[in-house]
Amino acid sequence: MSLGVLVDELLILVVAHFDRAQEVAHLGQACRRLHHFVETEGWKIFARARFPALTLTTTATVGWAALSESLTWQSRCWDRRGLAFMRLPLARFQAYQASHRASRPFHAVVDAHLRLDSGQELVAWGAGGDVVARSRQTASRSGSSKADWARFDGTSAGYQAGPDDVVSLKIVEAPFAGADGLGLVAGRASGNISMLSILPGGNMKAVATFAPLPRDEDRPARGKQGKLYSLDVSARNRLLVASTAYDVVLYALPQEKAAEMLPSASLDMDNRHFQADFRPHCAKWMGDGDLLAVATAHPARAISFTRATPSGFSALMPAAKNADLEARFPSGGSRHVYAHSIQPLDKPSSTGGIGSLLLSAWRDGTIRLQDVRTSSDYDMVYQDNINTLARYGSLLPRGESFVAAGLEDATIKIFDFRWTKHYYHTESLACGHEEPFPRAYQPFLPRRDARQGGDYPCAYYGEGLRAPCHWHKLSRRLYFRPNCSFYLTKSLTYPGASSPNVWSLAKSADVAPNFYIGITGGVVEASLRSATDGSVDPAVASVDPHFGFTNKPYPGKGLLPRSGSQVEFLDAPLLETGDGLAAPDNHRNIRLPALRQLDYTWTKDLWLPRNRLDQAYQMEID
Ligand SMILES: [Zn+2]
Repeated sequence: MSLGVLVDELLILVVAHFDRAQEVAHLGQACRRLHHFVETEGWKIFARARFPALTLTTTATVGWAALSESLTWQSRCWDRRGLAFMRLPLARFQAYQASHRASRPFHAVVDAHLRLDSGQELVAWGAGGDVVARSRQTASRSGSSKADWARFDGTSAGYQAGPDDVVSLKIVEAPFAGADGLGLVAGRASGNISMLSILPGGNMKAVATFAPLPRDEDRPARGKQGKLYSLDVSARNRLLVASTAYDVVLYALPQEKAAEMLPSASLDMDNRHFQADFRPHCAKWMGDGDLLAVATAHPARAISFTRATPSGFSALMPAAKNADLEARFPSGGSRHVYAHSIQPLDKPSSTGGIGSLLLSAWRDGTIRLQDVRTSSDYDMVYQDNINTLARYGSLLPRGESFVAAGLEDATIKIFDFRWTKHYYHTESLACGHEEPFPRAYQPFLPRRDARQGGDYPCAYYGEGLRAPCHWHKLSRRLYFRPNCSFYLTKSLTYPGASSPNVWSLAKSADVAPNFYIGITGGVVEASLRSATDGSVDPAVASVDPHFGFTNKPYPGKGLLPRSGSQVEFLDAPLLETGDGLAAPDNHRNIRLPALRQLDYTWTKDLWLPRNRLDQAYQMEID
């Protein structure tokens, strides 16, 4: 029977089960009617069915077919660990050090924003008292990614290095603020919050301010923010929430220039609620609604939630506890959360828990995923199987994985949520009898699991194959999909910053092929690359076909580029680390796996296209 005779409703079901983009493309070649169906519906169904954990939107220039192409490309790179790390130009940092004679380098707090319609990306970070921003276009749109730089000079604006350092930065839509319609809300350690806008030519100026709470007779310390721990923005509700010394304060985002925004509501975080010290605390929006997660250093109130509307906050409720997890991981260090680390998940992989799942890092080295309202099947505890005591200050969810980075060094760890996975790039490769290679490193998963069960019928029997193929079946197994760590610390050490830490992580959009890492004294971009074109050199490796950026140096205009404006690729040795699921006996000693170095001396004919890892990380022993 030809698929061309099926009604659309049945075609939708067929396409929703396609594992490979190839199948969608082939369907579209069958006849004119199917071509029309694939163009209008097919690619949309495919993208949504295979990538349910991502927020997907299309534009006039990037439709569903192009989006599917990018997402499958990204998934393949991500799973093969094809990531290149680049340090953004240091010129700004050096200038800051020289002019402020700062005794310590700044802690970069970074945020990023991608306009899908124009392909314009903005990344901005707090560099001590200054704010630095870079704007550029995706390569597919501009041919090359020329960058424009902008800078806000904190000293000229009267800010004091140290107390007025930027500790939180959020990019927000602000149609009145400059040509790009974006505002940068900068929160300073002293409690000062203002919105900056980028002017043509690369300067920035303040376009709005956020006033502290009025004085309160009962609490003389109030009336001065005193301190700021964090900011978060609800783009949909246009609300800003600030965690200050004594309160969680709510502001509406400004609608016009030169506005002074007054607090619209506040939640008292002083000792009316808490016996012991709860500072620092951190409030973040959950999803698109009015739910706000609040984490504190107080073990009795580690994670709570409240509902915030412009008229006020509901009472702070402790997050739901999961009895199973409580029993498996009894208290101790685990009662202390790193308040700054909390990250709400916008869009988990299937229904249920949407808008109430929260990821958080704890002092015992665990990272927890919990539904704050009711305990659910999503509740999970993750841990690096090798360095079990690693402590994380920054977490960044990305589809079916998340990135975690440390308070002790500049190691970037990638964890899989271990949800049901919906897209396997291996499906589009030919069948095989061999086991996936190189051999996976799994300190805790028993190897026999890798071979047990025949539950996955391979749909793509190769020539002459009559049975499910070994290779496709095993490639889907968790055993062959270990987590990994990238070690950046060594290549980031330079005078003045002998042991760089990670202070923030940010992505510009769910469909972006890159993310940013705010480190001590600078910012590193991590970008998906595929070294399939004959070179492991990240500067010539292929990038995302629709959302990628080229690696050309930045001869762009603006204030920043002088000497040292070249992008610098970092050495990032890779270590595979196991399934990443916390086990109570995870403290026992284990054998260390091989550390994979980037090796530029490889010749192309030695590479193995079916290797689990990108060419850049392949080794001779594979
Ligand atoms: Zn197969």
